[in-house]
Amino acid sequence: MKLDVTGMRYLTKDHFKVLNAVEMGMKNHEIVPVELISSIAKLRHGGVSKILSHLLRNKLIAHDGTTYDGFKLTYMGYDFLALRVFMKHGHISGLGRQIGVGKESDIYMAVQPDGTEVAIKFHRLGRTSFRAVKNKRDYLKHRKQVNWFYLSKLSAMKENAFLKALYERGFPTPTPIDANRHAIVMSLVDGYPLNQVRRMADSKGAYDACMDIVVRLAECGLVHCDFNEFNIMINDEGKITMIDFPQMISTSHYNAEELFNRDVQGLVKFYSRLQHGSYIPDEVPKLGDIVRDAEMNLDVEMEASGFTKQMAKDMETIHELTVGKDQHDSEDEEANDSEVDEDENHDEDDELDEALAAELQAKIKALQGDEKCEDNDSDE
Ligand code: ADP
Ligand code: MG
Repeated sequence: MKLDVTGMRYLTKDHFKVLNAVEMGMKNHEIVPVELISSIAKLRHGGVSKILSHLLRNKLIAHDGTTYDGFKLTYMGYDFLALRVFMKHGHISGLGRQIGVGKESDIYMAVQPDGTEVAIKFHRLGRTSFRAVKNKRDYLKHRKQVNWFYLSKLSAMKENAFLKALYERGFPTPTPIDANRHAIVMSLVDGYPLNQVRRMADSKGAYDACMDIVVRLAECGLVHCDFNEFNIMINDEGKITMIDFPQMISTSHYNAEELFNRDVQGLVKFYSRLQHGSYIPDEVPKLGDIVRDAEMNLDVEMEASGFTKQMAKDMETIHELTVGKDQHDSEDEEANDSEVDEDENHDEDDELDEALAAELQAKIKALQGDEKCEDNDSDE
């Protein structure tokens, strides 16, 4: 569904209070009962039903098709919540056209109050690959719905953490501007994805710039794992920008060398196949020859930030734990949530999610510890 924000200006503070209430309710409910929405939103002058029907008409919430007793957030509703925060922060003043679509993301142009154009990436997990995983494992057989909003948020937080870390260390990435929920605001890259390029005047220069990034990442302890012509942008002057860091891994990962070589070979293949000005290097870098930069332990730093390869690897566990957590804590959270004042909702909400993320990470670690213990036991 296309994201249309023309209706946003007709939404009042109360509309957002209700939308926010639906979001909060979804931590514990697949479909949030109207009474719960009402008790979280605590509108001074009532009128929740009218607002809910307005939100429903504008496709910001949905019902399950059989009853109007409860609602769930749509991705558009989730988008609006994030956009509102970006607007409150003064980071964007309007949304423009869609400029990119990935398997699990939508990228839009947006404009800042001073007229500068920026990019917003909305993570949309659950659209493709996870659905496949879900089917394969028969996830829904004995479980409730997976919370895709929450997983999209984790995915965006992870990307934002990498974006900031790489940008701060001088990698040619977009400039990070803001992040909220499942969305990231960054500078708009001047250029186009490399896969659209068929001919190049200085292909050696561009190849070197790309390979430099691969090597510098490895010096910092990271392998990109998806460093190909779809995730590299180039402008008319040949300037290279790397975008999209979905599945970086540590160079100490057991599979790092193979994945490093795959990134390298992908680049070699791309540059050797250009219709005009193709380039073939004499030799290519090897992971074993790259000297680690003692000052740069990005893999360890990212690991510590809690949004890492661990998340991807243990996505399966996370699904399980996310759903489990929701069931266990529903009573407590409902009680807490309804105490929260609207203006503090975002922070409170973020804290809740961060606490949850930390808890998940701890649980995963514990699970892995258990696994190791079990292995040890069986070895003895
Ligand atoms: P995905 O993770 O779904 O692959 P990407 O981050 O690779 O998403 O973005 C998809 C497409 O959107 C890119 O190929 C590019 O065309 C465009 N895009 C992404 N980020 C930017 C940006 N900061 N500036 C300009 N275009 C962008
Ligand atoms: Mg991509």
